[in-house]
Amino acid sequence: MAEDLKNKPDEYWKAKLTPEQYRVVREKGTEAPFTGEYVDNHDDGTYKCVACGVELFSSEMKFESGSGWPSFYDVARAGTVELHDDKSFGMVRTEATCANCGAHLGHVFPDGPAEKTGQRYCINSCSLDFAPKTVGK
Ligand code: FE
Repeated sequence: MAEDLKNKPDEYWKAKLTPEQYRVVREKGTEAPFTGEYVDNHDDGTYKCVACGVELFSSEMKFESGSGWPSFYDVARAGTVELHDDKSFGMVRTEATCANCGAHLGHVFPDGPAEKTGQRYCINSCSLDFAPKTVGK
Protein backbone atom coordinates (compact mmCIF):
# COMPACT_ATOMS: atom_id res chain seq x y z
CA MET A 1 0.00 0.00 0.00
CA ALA A 2 1.25 3.47 -0.83
CA GLU A 3 2.39 5.54 2.09
CA ASP A 4 -0.42 7.64 3.54
CA LEU A 5 1.09 11.08 3.29
CA LYS A 6 -2.15 12.87 4.12
CA ASN A 7 -2.00 11.79 7.76
CA LYS A 8 1.62 12.56 8.53
CA PRO A 9 2.18 14.59 11.71
CA ASP A 10 3.25 18.23 11.53
CA GLU A 11 6.76 17.25 12.62
CA TYR A 12 7.21 15.17 9.47
CA TRP A 13 6.54 18.17 7.23
CA LYS A 14 8.48 20.62 9.40
CA ALA A 15 11.57 18.44 8.97
CA LYS A 16 11.02 18.14 5.21
CA LEU A 17 10.05 21.69 4.22
CA THR A 18 11.54 25.16 4.66
CA PRO A 19 9.59 27.43 7.06
CA GLU A 20 8.08 29.36 4.12
CA GLN A 21 7.11 26.17 2.30
CA TYR A 22 5.56 24.83 5.51
CA ARG A 23 3.58 28.03 6.05
CA VAL A 24 2.09 27.87 2.55
CA VAL A 25 1.72 24.14 1.99
CA ARG A 26 0.64 22.96 5.45
CA GLU A 27 -0.92 26.13 6.90
CA LYS A 28 -2.61 27.30 3.68
CA GLY A 29 -0.56 30.46 3.47
CA THR A 30 0.00 32.60 0.40
CA GLU A 31 3.34 33.91 -0.81
CA ALA A 32 3.48 37.61 -1.62
CA PRO A 33 2.65 38.29 -5.29
CA PHE A 34 5.56 38.71 -7.73
CA THR A 35 7.99 37.21 -5.22
CA GLY A 36 7.87 33.52 -6.10
CA GLU A 37 10.72 32.03 -8.08
CA TYR A 38 8.51 30.61 -10.84
CA VAL A 39 6.30 33.63 -11.64
CA ASP A 40 8.44 34.53 -14.65
CA ASN A 41 9.84 31.09 -15.38
CA HIS A 42 9.40 30.35 -19.09
CA ASP A 43 11.56 27.24 -19.31
CA ASP A 44 10.10 23.97 -20.56
CA GLY A 45 9.58 21.38 -17.89
CA THR A 46 7.32 20.03 -15.21
CA TYR A 47 6.24 21.42 -11.87
CA LYS A 48 6.17 18.90 -9.05
CA CYS A 49 4.64 19.08 -5.59
CA VAL A 50 7.36 20.47 -3.31
CA ALA A 51 6.16 18.25 -0.48
CA CYS A 52 5.84 14.84 -2.16
CA GLY A 53 7.33 15.13 -5.65
CA VAL A 54 4.27 14.20 -7.70
CA GLU A 55 4.07 15.94 -11.10
CA LEU A 56 1.26 18.51 -10.97
CA PHE A 57 1.67 21.08 -13.72
CA SER A 58 3.46 21.49 -17.07
CA SER A 59 5.12 24.51 -18.65
CA GLU A 60 2.90 23.81 -21.67
CA MET A 61 -0.14 25.02 -19.72
CA LYS A 62 1.50 27.96 -17.97
CA PHE A 63 0.36 31.40 -19.05
CA GLU A 64 0.90 35.05 -18.15
CA SER A 65 -1.96 36.06 -15.89
CA GLY A 66 -0.40 39.23 -14.49
CA SER A 67 -1.51 38.11 -11.03
CA GLY A 68 1.98 37.70 -9.59
CA TRP A 69 1.66 33.96 -9.09
CA PRO A 70 2.45 31.13 -11.49
CA SER A 71 -0.73 30.46 -13.46
CA PHE A 72 -1.79 27.36 -15.35
CA TYR A 73 -4.93 26.72 -17.35
CA ASP A 74 -4.97 23.02 -16.49
CA VAL A 75 -3.22 20.29 -14.53
CA ALA A 76 -0.62 18.07 -16.16
CA ARG A 77 -2.61 14.90 -15.53
CA ALA A 78 -6.17 14.33 -14.34
CA GLY A 79 -6.60 13.37 -10.71
CA THR A 80 -3.39 14.86 -9.35
CA VAL A 81 -4.99 18.02 -7.96
CA GLU A 82 -8.05 18.06 -5.67
CA LEU A 83 -10.44 21.00 -5.47
CA HIS A 84 -12.24 22.12 -2.32
CA ASP A 85 -14.67 24.89 -1.39
CA ASP A 86 -12.81 27.51 0.63
CA LYS A 87 -14.92 30.07 2.52
CA SER A 88 -12.08 31.57 4.57
CA PHE A 89 -11.42 35.33 4.73
CA GLY A 90 -15.04 36.16 3.81
CA MET A 91 -14.62 34.91 0.25
CA VAL A 92 -15.88 31.89 -1.62
CA ARG A 93 -12.97 30.38 -3.49
CA THR A 94 -11.87 27.03 -4.82
CA GLU A 95 -8.78 25.70 -3.08
CA ALA A 96 -6.37 23.41 -4.96
CA THR A 97 -4.44 20.74 -3.06
CA CYS A 98 -2.09 17.92 -4.02
CA ALA A 99 -4.17 14.73 -4.28
CA ASN A 100 -1.24 12.65 -3.08
CA CYS A 101 -0.15 14.47 0.09
CA GLY A 102 -2.77 17.16 0.75
CA ALA A 103 -0.38 20.08 0.26
CA HIS A 104 -2.12 23.41 -0.21
CA LEU A 105 -1.14 24.71 -3.67
CA GLY A 106 -3.29 27.78 -4.27
CA HIS A 107 -6.72 28.53 -5.70
CA VAL A 108 -8.58 28.10 -8.98
CA PHE A 109 -10.48 30.99 -10.56
CA PRO A 110 -12.83 30.96 -13.57
CA ASP A 111 -10.98 33.73 -15.39
CA GLY A 112 -8.38 31.74 -17.29
CA PRO A 113 -7.87 31.85 -21.06
CA ALA A 114 -11.27 31.35 -22.70
CA GLU A 115 -9.74 29.62 -25.75
CA LYS A 116 -8.36 26.95 -23.40
CA THR A 117 -10.21 25.79 -20.28
CA GLY A 118 -11.30 29.16 -18.94
CA GLN A 119 -9.70 28.20 -15.65
CA ARG A 120 -6.76 29.80 -13.85
CA TYR A 121 -4.85 27.66 -11.39
CA CYS A 122 -3.20 30.34 -9.29
CA ILE A 123 -0.38 28.48 -7.59
CA ASN A 124 2.24 29.49 -5.03
CA SER A 125 5.78 29.06 -6.40
CA CYS A 126 6.96 27.68 -3.09
CA SER A 127 4.48 24.80 -3.28
CA LEU A 128 6.20 23.69 -6.50
CA ASP A 129 9.53 22.21 -7.51
CA PHE A 130 10.42 22.84 -11.16
CA ALA A 131 12.18 20.10 -13.13
CA PRO A 132 13.56 21.43 -16.45
CA LYS A 133 12.95 19.31 -19.51
CA THR A 134 16.08 17.49 -20.58
CA VAL A 135 16.85 18.26 -24.20
CA GLY A 136 17.75 15.68 -26.81
CA LYS A 137 17.28 12.69 -24.61
FE1 FE B 1 2.09 16.45 -2.77
